[in-house]
Amino acid sequence: MLKSKVAVMALMVAACTLAMAQTGALAPVQTIRFSPDMLDKNVDPCTDFYAYACSKWQAQNPIPSDRPSWGRFNELQDRGETIVRGILEKSSKDDPKRNPIEQKIGDYYSSCMDEGAIEKAGTKPLQPTLDRVTALKSKDEFAKEAITLHRDGISAFFEFGSQPDFKNANQIISAAEQGGLGLPDRDYYFKDDEKSVEIRKQYLAHVQKMFELLGDTPDTATAEAKVVIDVETALAKGSLDRTSQREPEKIYHKMSTKELAELNPSFGWTQYLEGIGAPPMQSLNVAEPDFFKQFDATLKSTSLDDWKTYLRWHVVHSNAAILPAAFVNENFNFYSKTLQGTKELPPRWKRCVRAATSDLGEAIGQIYVADTFGPEGKARTLKMVNALEKALGNDIQKLSWMGDDTKKEALVKLKAITNRIGYPDKWKDYSSLKIVRGDALGNSQRSNTFAFQRDLNKVGKPVDKGDWPYPPMTVNASYNPLQNNITFPAGILQPPFFDNQADDALNYGAIGAAIGHELTHGFDDEGAKFDPEGNLKDWWTSNDKEEFEKRTSCVKDQYASYSPLPDVKLNGKLTLGENTADNGGLRIAYMALVDSFAGKNPAPIDGYTAPQRFFLGFANIWCQNRTDQITRYLANIDPHSPGKFRVNGTVSNMPEFREAFKCKADAAMVRENACRVW
Ligand SMILES: [Zn+2]
Repeated sequence: MLKSKVAVMALMVAACTLAMAQTGALAPVQTIRFSPDMLDKNVDPCTDFYAYACSKWQAQNPIPSDRPSWGRFNELQDRGETIVRGILEKSSKDDPKRNPIEQKIGDYYSSCMDEGAIEKAGTKPLQPTLDRVTALKSKDEFAKEAITLHRDGISAFFEFGSQPDFKNANQIISAAEQGGLGLPDRDYYFKDDEKSVEIRKQYLAHVQKMFELLGDTPDTATAEAKVVIDVETALAKGSLDRTSQREPEKIYHKMSTKELAELNPSFGWTQYLEGIGAPPMQSLNVAEPDFFKQFDATLKSTSLDDWKTYLRWHVVHSNAAILPAAFVNENFNFYSKTLQGTKELPPRWKRCVRAATSDLGEAIGQIYVADTFGPEGKARTLKMVNALEKALGNDIQKLSWMGDDTKKEALVKLKAITNRIGYPDKWKDYSSLKIVRGDALGNSQRSNTFAFQRDLNKVGKPVDKGDWPYPPMTVNASYNPLQNNITFPAGILQPPFFDNQADDALNYGAIGAAIGHELTHGFDDEGAKFDPEGNLKDWWTSNDKEEFEKRTSCVKDQYASYSPLPDVKLNGKLTLGENTADNGGLRIAYMALVDSFAGKNPAPIDGYTAPQRFFLGFANIWCQNRTDQITRYLANIDPHSPGKFRVNGTVSNMPEFREAFKCKADAAMVRENACRVW
């Protein structure tokens, strides 16, 4: 699946799953629970609810040196990674009794852990690829070269893959998307504030060092790095910005293969499409036509030698994590230290657990699920999902601003949402993927080829809704507007999100609000453009659409006024869908909780009423610490707001919060013009 921005709306940014602190011995696997001892009684909840719920946690939980941020999600990831480590270590013993799954995950992990062998091999495993690029004789050979690079997992020129057809969402088509950059986003190439200029300078130095590590002289490497930045800047010029990419109509341009070849005549599209490994196609989605126009111009204006330099950079860049330590460290220095503020490289086992999870996620997931997740977990979650869906249905019916016609359509869409809980019904079949003990780089490349081919095999077929976007140990959740379904993997269905031993109020505030968040994505500024079957189709009356936009615009302005750092403001439009989902999700979770009381108010626990515990359960999951660097980085690219604003921004829109904590009308947590969409 392409990294299409519409494909999956997650609960939190995937980049936060980076890095981790643990060394040596296996950490004990502990359950992480909410505790009222963690509340800061020196803070008035009506003044700053986030500080009331999280400041003590923040003070007691500094960011580990090998992470850019630390929060409740990370605590769970940490726990999950420890479990996965145990699975991988057990499977890596060279035992003839291992089954094929254990052989693959075990040999992958042991190869990744074998630093000695990786050091000894040096760049030799990469040499055939580098030699092939160096030997290119003409730009006419780029299409053939791009096929090999893309199949090996090297993101040069552009991205290619499969996706559902936005206007016929049950059908999978091919898609070509913008790509080919080394910085996280196109804006990094153009922003001229002091910090951005400095980052570009450091990026240049990083690219230069990587060329030096490949054996080039410092002078040559300096010149080469400049070439790379020039080529990437040219590609970035044609790239769509991140906020616009949230608008499905801006990334959907279905064309015939002939039209694409005409749009971008300097690239051998016919050859590429015939050789890439997808079934023959008549048409495809060219997500950003302007990018391919600009790619064409850049192909013409840049010399063959400069393109070779650009390609060599992407070959080494894409494989840096699996090369000798000098490459790993240099890659870490720029991408984790400079961009995100991480102080130290995570220990090798963590990096190998993550690499194995990324390449063989569902192979590991089968064992993880058997060890950690029983059928009762699924049943309890489903019960809560049903309660949340019922609450959203009641909410829609009662909305004052929406007319009956649109309400009818919204309820049809709500009813059509399907749920995926815990783990997939059918596991991915890895049998055609060869994993060789002692060949770390080869394993990584073959895994990339396997994933790429598996993705392209879907083209021309109906969507397989049983195919999951991530493995079951993932601590996240998502809504997919093109399938109109929500996904809650086993990894998130545990304390503090879902605590068997906690009262309903706490659970509804935590996992309940997360379920509500995902359901509301079906109705946020982006999700609302898709119909019950996942097609990009308007089902709104124009009057209701106008009312909807008035309300989402309130949310946009509210969050745009928040500053996570003195010189950084949140992008109200980029974060609009997530903020709408947070607000809607918390509201319907509250409705579902009240419904569960069945008219009887539960007795307070530890001195806190059920409504208070509901809001505390919500705030608790967003307690986090972040480096300034990652705060700045995420403000550029992450559609989610930081924890503080996810909590304070949401509760300050809810009269139910004001009532629960008896806040005065002029309290900071009571917004005079509270926003409400759903
Ligand atoms: Zn979300």
